[in-house]
Amino acid sequence: MSLFVIIARLIKDIFIKKSLRENVQRILIVEDNKTLAKLISKKITSELNVKVDIAYNFSESKLFLKSYKYFLTLLDLNLPDAPNGEVVDYALSKDNRVIVLSGNIDKELRKKLLSKNIIDYINKSGVSDIKYIINFIKRLQKNQNHKILVVDDSMVFRKHMKSMLENLFYDVISVAHGEEALSMLKTYPDISLVLTDYNMPVMNGLELTSAIRKTRDKNDISIIALSSNENEEIDARFLKEGANDYINKPFSKEEFSCRVNNSIESLENIQTITNHSNRDFLTGVYNRRYFFHNVQTYFDTALESGESFAIAMIDIDNFKNINDTYGHDSGDKAIVHLSDILRANTAEDDVVSRFGGEEFCIILKNISSKNALTVLERIKNKVQKSVTISEKNAEISFTISVGLVTNHENSLDETVNQADMLLYEAKQSGRNKVISN
Ligand code: GH3
Ligand code: MG
Ligand code: MG
Repeated sequence: MSLFVIIARLIKDIFIKKSLRENVQRILIVEDNKTLAKLISKKITSELNVKVDIAYNFSESKLFLKSYKYFLTLLDLNLPDAPNGEVVDYALSKDNRVIVLSGNIDKELRKKLLSKNIIDYINKSGVSDIKYIINFIKRLQKNQNHKILVVDDSMVFRKHMKSMLENLFYDVISVAHGEEALSMLKTYPDISLVLTDYNMPVMNGLELTSAIRKTRDKNDISIIALSSNENEEIDARFLKEGANDYINKPFSKEEFSCRVNNSIESLENIQTITNHSNRDFLTGVYNRRYFFHNVQTYFDTALESGESFAIAMIDIDNFKNINDTYGHDSGDKAIVHLSDILRANTAEDDVVSRFGGEEFCIILKNISSKNALTVLERIKNKVQKSVTISEKNAEISFTISVGLVTNHENSLDETVNQADMLLYEAKQSGRNKVISN
């Protein structure tokens, strides 16, 4: 690509809406082998929602790096106008995250590369490596959603780990001992991983691990212990106290990032499975099993504290007609449409669940009878006024009937049954209405 073409493209991009430019992450590939550069770019753009720029030499790279903020840069070590990895040092000096592409990486080069602040290096020899690059980028994108708590009394070490983890896009919090860590975990319950040293003042790593495990299990938060090689006994004790993994000090940057990424990945996999078992496949709202599991706990505490709440059973009217007229897939669309309305018109803490077919049950937490009735009337009216588009582009409209319980019964089962009875009454008395007790 000539300099002229690049400049023309930069100018064009300025005219693209700012918001558009900022929403899409950019990746820069610097590689003088044009075929390879284009191949990598093609694979990346076909699998990821990112914008890729390609530079074939150092001077083009500099122009790109000056013009854009990159999510990631993939840089070839040997370029015609920069044969000794100058582009890597330049990109790092401009605070870019770097993955090095290289033809052959021997022991010496690996050591040299790892001493720089790069994320990873990749041997660009085969297609399997392109797959590795793509999976790695996906990992980095997801890392942005994870908080990691680093617990170590050595400030130098804390800083070192923080910088390595931030380079991998993790959101990092660091503290000096176990007690501080526990208070951070209270403030940030969404922390995914705790990396803890063993020897620390006030509360050591083992005590911290056991304290965390009293309330949070391995599938909820991951713990990696950092210990020194000499002490095998400590490693075993960490694992027995509930650590997911341990890393021996001193460790290589590669081992560290692989173990951290693996730990986070396992946690994500478990959460995906849990999510599948709690949610309805078609609509993404909770399923009946989760409803009873989650709401039972709430029901008990609300009865004790006297908090008022409401449970509503909701069913689409004459749904069979929609299936018969527009087909089963359009029927499914109507079900999804209703679930969207239910979610949009209830609070974050409320539970919307699909009990089966076109029947939903929801709980509105901490709400007065009067307000609950207003919410359900509003939902009923919104459903009646809205339309959903059938598979063949026809407008489908439908209504719902609702049984609403605000004065609950003795048990959750009885309360849900009561809502079901009221729903039946609504159906019997003409449909498209909310009947409350
Ligand atoms: P009512 O007003 O009394 O509720 O009448 P209705 O036709 O809505 O109720 P009925 O229970 O007689 O019919 C529900 C139909 O929904 C029967 C079943 O074939 C269909 N159904 C059940 N699950 C699904 C589903 O997941 N998708 C679709 N498209 N249809 C479903
Ligand atoms: Mg129905
Ligand atoms: Mg039904």
